[in-house]
Amino acid sequence: MNIGKLVKKEVASLRAYSAKEIACRVKLDANESPYGFETALDAALAVKTNRYPDPEAKALKKVLARDCRVMPENILLGNGSDELICYLIETFGGPVLYPVPTFSMYGIIAQALGEQKVEVPLDAAFDLDGPAMLSAVRRARPKLTFLSSPNNPTGNCFSSERILPLIEATKGLVVVDEAYQPFASERGFLPLLKDYPNLIILRTLSKTGLAALRLGYMIASPDIVEQVNKVRLPFNVNALTQAVAVKALQERKKLKESVNKLVAERDRLYGEMERMARVTPFLSEANFILFRVHDPEAVYDGLLRKGVLVRNMNDAAAGCLRVTVGTPEDNSAFLSALGKVLESTKRRVQ
Ligand SMILES: *Cc1c(COP(=O)(O)O)cnc(C)c1O
Repeated sequence: MNIGKLVKKEVASLRAYSAKEIACRVKLDANESPYGFETALDAALAVKTNRYPDPEAKALKKVLARDCRVMPENILLGNGSDELICYLIETFGGPVLYPVPTFSMYGIIAQALGEQKVEVPLDAAFDLDGPAMLSAVRRARPKLTFLSSPNNPTGNCFSSERILPLIEATKGLVVVDEAYQPFASERGFLPLLKDYPNLIILRTLSKTGLAALRLGYMIASPDIVEQVNKVRLPFNVNALTQAVAVKALQERKKLKESVNKLVAERDRLYGEMERMARVTPFLSEANFILFRVHDPEAVYDGLLRKGVLVRNMNDAAAGCLRVTVGTPEDNSAFLSALGKVLESTKRRVQ
């Protein structure tokens, strides 16, 4: 039997998201934090394994609401923010507008759900192309516009002078995906929620030491939350995640210290890479740095042979690789490997 023939055409042309597990000594490919919250795992011992989780995750929402200075009614939880992106597109449909390069899931999910994608290239500084985005809004009338700020994989925040006119011009919703906001120098869009009824903020615990839990959250007006909540699967956030997240989120000091350490290391990495020949790093407000080299495939392979795994972004951003900021030791191992690999690829080019 040819199963392929039964598959919807939108799905047939997709390829499974490959989060490949590649053996390595220094893992700097997935924007994870090197600092975990294993102490919070104790909370899982109180979970009754025979009972369904709290479907509304009340305790967890309360902690997050306090941290974000909003009401629990403003929050919807997801099994990672990926799930919330899916729920948003299920609820509102397309067209779905986003700049490129950006986080790949906006396009993948839109396509899987059979919704029209509208992609607008970023400008040369990786900022939003204001006029092009505005004209796409007028022409395509997107139901949803996704803006990852700081943007993955470029690392920069989009300027708010270019985001705000979009929020004002569109008749649809604008989702500012703040997965990397904890590492950014500016405050983000939370304070603007009350001024813009069509603004949605996405956050996640994945980049700050809790990727294993799969917890994302959306902050928006209660009207929006109420609609999206209709497509949410019951019990989408499991009991272990709820219990451990509540405990981990109490450790605010530890979270802050780990973020500060990573920001300082990011700036050290950037400085060191800027001084190296044949590599162009791009300024970042996130926990990773995008950098351009002459032969990205050779540099990627060379790093991996030295045990350092980064992400090859050549398809999305020509000539670019992305390195996640790790511990000082990991970052130094990366820098030293990069120096040697660039030296050997130079010899080959000559
Ligand atoms: C990592 C990432 C996410 C996904 O986060 P999860 O909560 O782990 O699903 C969402 N948006 C951006 C821009 C990301 O880089």
